[in-house]
Amino acid sequence: MQASLAWLIFFGHRGALSPTFVSFTILMVSVLGFDPPQRLRLQRTLIAGLIYLASCMAIALGMAEGLTTVSAGVAVMAYELAGFLTFFIAIRFGLTRRLDDPALTLPQVLHGLGAIVLAYLLIPAGRNLTLPLLSLALTFALLSKLTPRQTTYCGLAAAAMLVVAFMASYLGRPDTADVAQEAINLIMAALTLPVFSSVARQVKEWREKLDEQKVQLHKLIGDLRELAARDELTGLVNRRAMNTAVLEELMRFKRHQRPFCLAILDIDNFKRINDQFGHHAGDAVLLALAKHLTQHFAMPDHVARWGGEEFVILLPECALDDAIRMLDAMRAQFIHVIGGDGEPACGVTFSTGVTQACPGDLLTHILERADVALYQAKRRGKNQVVSA
Ligand code: GH3
Ligand code: MG
Ligand code: MG
Repeated sequence: MQASLAWLIFFGHRGALSPTFVSFTILMVSVLGFDPPQRLRLQRTLIAGLIYLASCMAIALGMAEGLTTVSAGVAVMAYELAGFLTFFIAIRFGLTRRLDDPALTLPQVLHGLGAIVLAYLLIPAGRNLTLPLLSLALTFALLSKLTPRQTTYCGLAAAAMLVVAFMASYLGRPDTADVAQEAINLIMAALTLPVFSSVARQVKEWREKLDEQKVQLHKLIGDLRELAARDELTGLVNRRAMNTAVLEELMRFKRHQRPFCLAILDIDNFKRINDQFGHHAGDAVLLALAKHLTQHFAMPDHVARWGGEEFVILLPECALDDAIRMLDAMRAQFIHVIGGDGEPACGVTFSTGVTQACPGDLLTHILERADVALYQAKRRGKNQVVSA
C-alpha cells in the first residue's frame, strides 16, 4: 500500500495523473490510514458523520428560522459531533483494535439513537422526523456486524428511549404538549420498531447462514482441489500436482542453483501380472508399491502416480549420486510376491530412470531424460536404476 502511494506520488509529479485525483487519494489515505479493515470501519463511521453533518445543517436552519432555541440546537449538534469525533479518533488511532467490536458498531448505533431521542426531546418542531431517523439508525445496525439479539436490543432501546423522552417532555411542560400527536407518534414507534427489529433479526440470520455457507463452500473447494490433485486408487498426488511441484522446484533451482533429481518408475511386466492374476491383483501391486514409496520418501520429497503403472519421484536438494543410491536401496527393499496357492509365484519388480536438473532445463527436458534412462533400464534387463 505504501509502495502504491509512492508510485502515485511519482506519477502525479510526472503529470501522468490528474493533480485532483492524486491529492484526493493522498487525503483519503491520510484520513483513513493504510490498514484495509480499519479503512472500512472508518468509511462507515464517516458515512454516519455525513448524516450528523446533514442533521446539524438542518438544525442550524431550524435555529435561523426560529423553529428551535439556540441552546437546544447547539446541545443536539454538540452531542452528535462529539460522539462522532470520539468514535472516529478512537478507531483511527487503533484504540479499539483489540476489542471484540473494533468498529464500535453497538456504541455508534446507540449514540445515533440517543441523538434522535435527544432531538425529539429538545426540538419539538422536528418530531415528525423521529421515526424515519430511527429507522435509518436501525438500518445501520442491520447492515453492521451486530448479532440478531443486539439488533433487537437496539430496536427495543430506541422504543424505550422514545417513551422516556415523551414522558419527560410531557411531565416537563404538560400545558404545551400536543398529547394526541405525541401519542400517535409513540404508537407508530411502538408498532414500527419491533417490526423493524424482527426484520433486522431475520436479515441477520440469513446473513449468518450465508456466511456459514460461504465457509462450507470454501472448504468444499479446498476438498475438491485436494481431490483433483490426488490419484483415486493410491491416494498419491497425480500427474498435474507433480508437474506443479517440479515447476516450482525448477524455479528454485534457477534462483539458488540447488540440485534436484527426478525419477520415473515403471513396474516390470505389469501387463502379464494383470493377465495372469487379474486386474485386482494388479491394483494390489500398485497399492503396495505406492505404500513402499511413501514410506521411503517423505517431505520434501514428492511421490506421484504418473499414470498406469508408472510413478514419479521428485527429490529436492539431492545430487544424482545420492538419488541413485537411495532409489536402488529402495528398489532392493521392495518385496512383493503374488501367486502361490497352486499357481506359480511371481515377484514384482520395477525399473527406474533418474536424472538431475541441468541449467537451462525445462520441465519437458527433465521428463524426457528420465524417460530415456527408464527405457535403458528396461533394455538392460529391468529391475534396476539407470541415470541419464
Ligand atoms: P514393461 O515391463 O516393459 O513395463 O511392460 P508392462 O507390461 O509393464 O507394460 P505395458 O505398458 O505393456 O502394460 C502396462 C499395463 O498396465 C497395461 C494396463 O492394462 C495396466 N494398467 C494401467 N493402469 C492400471 C491400473 O490402474 N490397474 C491395473 N490393474 N492395471 C493397470
Ligand atoms: Mg509403462
Ligand atoms: Mg511396465
